[in-house]
Amino acid sequence: MFDKLPVSSKTEEILTKSLDEQITVEEANHLMNVQGHDLYPLLATADYVRHELVGDNVTFINNCNINFTNICTVRCGFCAFGKDAEDPDAYILSDEEILAKAEGAVADGAREFTLMGGVHPDADIDYYEHLLTLLKDNYPKVSIHGFSPTMVRDACLVSEISVAEGFERLKDAGLDTLPGTAAEILTDRSREIICPEKVTVAEWVDIVKTSHEVGIPGSSTIMYGHVETLEERVEHIDVIRKLQEETHGFTEFIPMTFMHEYSPIFLEGQSNLGATGTQDLKLYAVSRLMLRD
Ligand code: SF4
Repeated sequence: MFDKLPVSSKTEEILTKSLDEQITVEEANHLMNVQGHDLYPLLATADYVRHELVGDNVTFINNCNINFTNICTVRCGFCAFGKDAEDPDAYILSDEEILAKAEGAVADGAREFTLMGGVHPDADIDYYEHLLTLLKDNYPKVSIHGFSPTMVRDACLVSEISVAEGFERLKDAGLDTLPGTAAEILTDRSREIICPEKVTVAEWVDIVKTSHEVGIPGSSTIMYGHVETLEERVEHIDVIRKLQEETHGFTEFIPMTFMHEYSPIFLEGQSNLGATGTQDLKLYAVSRLMLRD
């Protein structure tokens, strides 16, 4: 396949292997660093593997994000959305405002609501059940993708119940899928810089695993281009891969580049400006080869 290309022998060896099986972490780290003549074979191989596995089928869902509050006690360094309760821009949507948003979205064809917000200090499982029931009672055919692992952890702490019981109750109230958010970069070194109050890597894995075991599948994400190294991007994808091998609960993997402009860590000079276009291409390519069946 690579006979006529000036690709290095190590890259060629890894890409040839990737046609039939997943690559290792060490191999992924090599590919994440390729440049020049090795870059295009990486991208072409990942696209070829993608086509072999799923063809040209592309799916999407018409989704409406309902951000019911921006009050947040966690205050991640990358986030310009969360506010203190006393902030003049802080808000909590009323039931009427939530239903008005939902109505407008359904009129535009929405088939899914994403219920997401800051980590409000008083939010307990009762409150999240109320939000789910409010939407399900009025829009029973619209699926609900909601809450982050950190939100669920903190609501269970406020309600003094286990995370498993919390998920059982959310599922009974209408939660269909869990967003794989709060993942950011799944290494404790980076998390200590960008989101020290969020769940640790071990907690994130435990909570998402519990969600899958309770019967709530969900997405997985990566947010990259801030303070993490290339090796940490690979480490993150490997955490997702190992959990998927165990639970088969992930429905998709969503790469999101860091939006630096208003984030505290960028304004304090601690972060990069997000990923470059080449880094985006490599992230997609390497993740396709790591997460292939
Ligand atoms: S928990 Fe969410 S809303 Fe709160 S600061 Fe972090 S990213 Fe922003």
